[in-house]
Amino acid sequence: MTATFPCTSDCEATQICERCRRRKAPRGRSVAPEMAGGLCDTDCPGYREEPRPGHLWPGELARLHAHGISPMDSTEDVAEETVTS
Ligand SMILES: [Zn+2]
Repeated sequence: MTATFPCTSDCEATQICERCRRRKAPRGRSVAPEMAGGLCDTDCPGYREEPRPGHLWPGELARLHAHGISPMDSTEDVAEETVTS
């Protein structure tokens, strides 16, 4: 595993869905059931429209750097503890 980080802060950009006015979940990430109703996800027709969300949870990039892991290797445990504030 190489420690390269192609991701930037843009990758954790939070966007608001134009249709449902909810925050869009990061692309390709699973949303914890308890927050599924509070985020716009792939069930919403607006999810795939502009503005496009990033693929990281807010704050995740810093944590990934801190642990020296690639975003592609991190999954559920990182995803579940964020986006409650
Ligand atoms: Zn939506």
